Amino acid sequence: MTDIHQLGDKELLDRNTANSLDAQDPLSKFRQEFAIPTRGDVAGDKPIVEKETDLEEPCTYLCGNSLGLMPKQTPILVNQEFDAWSRRGVEGHRNHPYNRPWVTVDEQVKEHLANLVGAKPVEVTAMNTLTSNLHSMMTTFFRPTKDRFKIMIEAKAFPSDHYAVSSHLESRGLDPATALITIAPRAGELNLRTQDILDTIEGDKSIALVMLSGVQYYTGQFFDIPKITKFGQEKGCIVGWDLAHAVGNVPLKLHEWQVDFACWCSYKYLNSGAGGIAGLFIHEKYAKDTSRPRLAGWWGNEKENRFDMSPEFRPSEGASGYQQSNPNVLATIALLSSLQIYEQAGGIEALRIKSLKLTGYLEKLLHLVLDAHFKADHIRILTPADPEQRGCQLSLEFPERMMDVFDGLHAYGVICDERKPTVIRLAPVPLYNSFADVYRAVMCLAKVMDQVYSS
Ligand SMILES: *Cc1c(COP(=O)(O)O)cnc(C)c1O
Repeated sequence: MTDIHQLGDKELLDRNTANSLDAQDPLSKFRQEFAIPTRGDVAGDKPIVEKETDLEEPCTYLCGNSLGLMPKQTPILVNQEFDAWSRRGVEGHRNHPYNRPWVTVDEQVKEHLANLVGAKPVEVTAMNTLTSNLHSMMTTFFRPTKDRFKIMIEAKAFPSDHYAVSSHLESRGLDPATALITIAPRAGELNLRTQDILDTIEGDKSIALVMLSGVQYYTGQFFDIPKITKFGQEKGCIVGWDLAHAVGNVPLKLHEWQVDFACWCSYKYLNSGAGGIAGLFIHEKYAKDTSRPRLAGWWGNEKENRFDMSPEFRPSEGASGYQQSNPNVLATIALLSSLQIYEQAGGIEALRIKSLKLTGYLEKLLHLVLDAHFKADHIRILTPADPEQRGCQLSLEFPERMMDVFDGLHAYGVICDERKPTVIRLAPVPLYNSFADVYRAVMCLAKVMDQVYSS
């Protein structure tokens, strides 16, 4: 297997190198499990610069960090649920033509989710959506006292996390102006230093809950989850994680790392479709703990006596005890369809091996092909250069002409996303992206940059 770090400039610039890396890639066959929009599909009413004939070609999709592509199997499985519904009606809850009775549909994904995040099945469940699960976990794990009443998040946390934490504090009669602690990179630096995170925790004894993201959505920085978790807990904090950009992207060992709780959405790297059902992890140490308050619902009740319809709540052990409503079957089965592919591909460990190569290749090619633009400060990479401190995503900053670059890439059928004012995120996803995708994206970017800066 070619080591991308051994490739010389001439080989890197050669398109055949991308093809040969794809030929050597044991995971390349999984690309065909996904529906990839064509360049014509994504062009919409925006101009497209390629020849007409190329409109049938697949677009170069580097946006799995925002919305993962659809597995071709998903409409088949979801249609089976419509079939079950049409043929069985309410009976489908227990008597299901495809052996996925709806009363226990959430159990279909439990084991898969546990494998993905390094957990025991009792520690995970699929439920609700990410932001509502964050609220739910704060209800349970944020127990403010007179001396400890603060929540710590990143200054540039995803806006929904900001809103959730601020509004949650207010719902407890606390003022975010004093109870919300945010942490930012040092002046002139792009990423947070682990030591600064630890020092902030150490420096403020009134922090009750540390809630950071596993992989930062904007910069792509992958935080040292075990170290921060251990340190925060030693200082008396609960440590929870928002894994929206980490799950399905980087290997996680939530059980071993003793993480208190974690939440994630499933439509990014987990390809469950827009608004898909979210995931929840609660460490086994709380599996039988009924001392904490929770936002309960009937689906959190033990399944053996859920239908006794008793007003007395008897929670299931572990994460399932925090479920509220009966889960959305269509969303759960869409998620299952994608998780089955993860399993076939050998799980997140196998994907990470490819991911390190794919993103390493992207980084090397960018520096080589866009060297002059890097030197002229037209572009820089925000994401840490250390592969251990990032997932698959590279965040590129274009201080002056970001939207022109973004529109130019779109016109070539390179689909990525922009975060105003200056950032474009490229995420080569190991499950369906190829080295040829990366090669094409960089070559298109080079053409676009030359056009933008010559006009
Ligand atoms: C994508 C994302 C969200 C989105 O929240 P939803 O409740 O799923 O709409 C929230 N937080 C982070 C960090 C995200 O990356």
